[in-house]
Amino acid sequence: MVTTAPSAELVSTNPATGAEIARVAITSPEALNATVDRARHAFHHSGWKSLLPHKRALVLHAIADGLAAEKEALARLQMQDNGKPLGECRGMVESAIGTFRYYAGVCETLETDVTPARGDYVSFTVLEPFGVVAAITPWNSPLMNDATKVAPALAAGNAVILKPSEDSPLLAPELARIARAAGLPQDLLQVVQGRGADVGAALVAHPGVRMISFTGGTVSGRAIARVAGDRLVPAALELGGKSPHVVFADADRVHAVAAVVAGIFGSAGQSCVAGSRLFIEQSIYHEVLTQVVERAMHLRVAPPDAEGVEMGPLASFHHRERVAQFVDRARAEGGRVLCGGAVPTGPQYEGGAYYLPTVIDGLGPDAVSCQEEAFGPVLVALPFKDEADLIAQANGTAFGLACGIWTESFKRAWRVGRALEAGSVWINTYKQSVTSTPFGGFKNSGIGREKGIDGLKLYAQVKSMYFGLHEQPLAVAK
Ligand code: NAD
Repeated sequence: MVTTAPSAELVSTNPATGAEIARVAITSPEALNATVDRARHAFHHSGWKSLLPHKRALVLHAIADGLAAEKEALARLQMQDNGKPLGECRGMVESAIGTFRYYAGVCETLETDVTPARGDYVSFTVLEPFGVVAAITPWNSPLMNDATKVAPALAAGNAVILKPSEDSPLLAPELARIARAAGLPQDLLQVVQGRGADVGAALVAHPGVRMISFTGGTVSGRAIARVAGDRLVPAALELGGKSPHVVFADADRVHAVAAVVAGIFGSAGQSCVAGSRLFIEQSIYHEVLTQVVERAMHLRVAPPDAEGVEMGPLASFHHRERVAQFVDRARAEGGRVLCGGAVPTGPQYEGGAYYLPTVIDGLGPDAVSCQEEAFGPVLVALPFKDEADLIAQANGTAFGLACGIWTESFKRAWRVGRALEAGSVWINTYKQSVTSTPFGGFKNSGIGREKGIDGLKLYAQVKSMYFGLHEQPLAVAK
């Protein structure tokens, strides 16, 4: 058998054109060790962890300012690195800026507890950083995901080693550069580059890393959790999804259809919360499905910087191959491909990793295509009879990241929203995800919650302190 040694470089390719845009050196094992050593040194000696929170907050604000100053360039870099439409990339830079500002605010206002004393002392809690945090991110929204981890981890006083995906390596070094220029002490935020199986795995296993924050697929998350369990270090895991998007017969059809289409074809379906399983109440099944298909067929699939683009290419050619195989399997399982299911043709698509918006029905809820994440522009549609049937079908997957419910009945929305196993429930809306509201998954979609005030506490450990007020020396026995 012929084996080839893995290359020492990552090649970033623009998925809209196939053109190489950059090469990035993979971090060697020796360089990884040195990176962790520097991070530990910075954690212990830079003064960051003991800097008063309102002063740490100033640096986080300065990082937000630095990102804002380079907003357009960063958006264009992400567009080239992973092919998302320019408007979406701009939104993601805005989101990263907002995240640094939000955690600056949380950093300087977060209070800990004075706990009820049960003796002659004052008892209270303080938050301590873990030390060196490994932040590992996927390729679909690099800067936004990086900020969701880096901002709260720094706010809590940690040093961070960021490992972006091998498929989108270009944004993380920009964030580290901007953070340093904004006044973050040297080596508090460093970047390592490489594939998950080697550099990612070595980072997670490194004894100098005291906490792991991971966003990515469930298979990788499980591998990381095993190592974290063995090492007894905490691991926050944001994983995949197969989120149900539910349309009841009493729903506002116009809004529901628009949200279903946006919920799956936004970001070309490369979103962990993509509403990839569409459940439509039986009495309106054909009518709503026809409208969804009609809309999907007319989405403007175009280069990411084209005027009016609604869906760009997929993030890489090998990912497009995976999505195409997913659709082939759905066909083999007996699914009817109602639209898409192919690579678009025409001069503007030549050289790019495009795939058409695809809607499939005719499968049972247990079909592999209704259970596994495609992470692409592929929607499977299923009818349901009543609430009980819907809840059984919708909860019948290993995932539990998000769901959407369209109904005019607030009582039904409440019942169904409470019954569905999902970390985020959107009622008469979809895919709202803001930095101030906790985010995370049930079941195989993850462990822990990012964002919100608890998103900072994720990166801190609680220390309980007691100040004695005894008038008499403590006795050995009472
Ligand atoms: P992936 O799991 O292949 O890789 C994610 C990151 O983990 C990459 O940086 C990769 O190099 C690294 N990695 C992989 N195996 C590793 C290991 N054993 N040890 C350490 N690091 C390892 O995922 P992907 O293909 O980059 O992204 C797509 C997946 O991410 C989808 O499943 C999607 O649903 C999920 N995702 C989840 C969220 C969320 O917040 N829940 C957000 C975005 C993406």
